[in-house]
Amino acid sequence: MKLETIAKPGKPNADDLVPSRYALSVGDLDVLVISDGVLPLPTETMATNVDPAVRAAWFKDMFVGPDMFDWALNVLVVRSGDQTILVDAGLGGQFSGFPRAGQFPKRLEAAGIDLASVTDVVITHMHMDHVGGLLVDDVKQRLRPDVRIHVSATEVAFWDAPDFTFTSMPTPVPKVLRSTAAQFIKEYRDKLKTFDEECEIAPGVVAKVTGGHTPGHCVVQLNSGGERLTFAGDALFPVGFDHPDWHNGFEHDPEESVRVRVRLLQDAAASGELLVATHLPFPSVGHVAVDGDAFRWVAAFWDY
Ligand SMILES: [Zn+2]
Repeated sequence: MKLETIAKPGKPNADDLVPSRYALSVGDLDVLVISDGVLPLPTETMATNVDPAVRAAWFKDMFVGPDMFDWALNVLVVRSGDQTILVDAGLGGQFSGFPRAGQFPKRLEAAGIDLASVTDVVITHMHMDHVGGLLVDDVKQRLRPDVRIHVSATEVAFWDAPDFTFTSMPTPVPKVLRSTAAQFIKEYRDKLKTFDEECEIAPGVVAKVTGGHTPGHCVVQLNSGGERLTFAGDALFPVGFDHPDWHNGFEHDPEESVRVRVRLLQDAAASGELLVATHLPFPSVGHVAVDGDAFRWVAAFWDY
């Protein structure tokens, strides 16, 4: 994933008319954000605890909606020394109705990264849009047999008997989430490396449990040469800067999710680090500023 690798991509992909990979470095770490595509979702899932008119006004101000909007799906690849780390794996192409998602395997290949070179995978949480990509036959077959899959022990335990009491998801979703998580455990049980509070995946790469979105949800912090980047997973959504207190329908503990989000945004604003999140618009690389009682997203100027 050094720049010379990026400059020699795999097969050119004539279908890709928009940028789908973005490379940057964090100290000695090489980082690549890859778009898995987009997932259309009802806007009402983005704020379940506010007046629908208030929610509609926010989306109108953002020039998206009114009923559906495209949720971005970003996957991170990090190279630290001789380790290549994948953070999440996108939705996969096996779910009908999402033809524009599940792009990450071909885009990884187009970026010159062989799935067989991946030594570690970090799963922020076991929702289908984060583990689904690992359930695609072609991906399973190309991953090396000794790949390590890091996920929090709390997350694995949670999906034994997941609680959807406080979620507000479209009808078939809880059932599909449950079966996808079960399938993930079944397929990868012998490769799982579980951790409690945090885990150093590689030099400068640490996974840290936050809870909230799911009880075992983790973020991934990169720290090298005085530079920092946090991959926030699903601790943060596009509405979260203006309205960190808005509950998201996919959060299993919405109130804890708010606390996690506010802390994450405060830390990012104070440190000036880069932030990337799964569902912020690609490439989702930017900084956080404090804006009164809320926050402001400051997209990074692209580095060419
Ligand atoms: Zn997600």
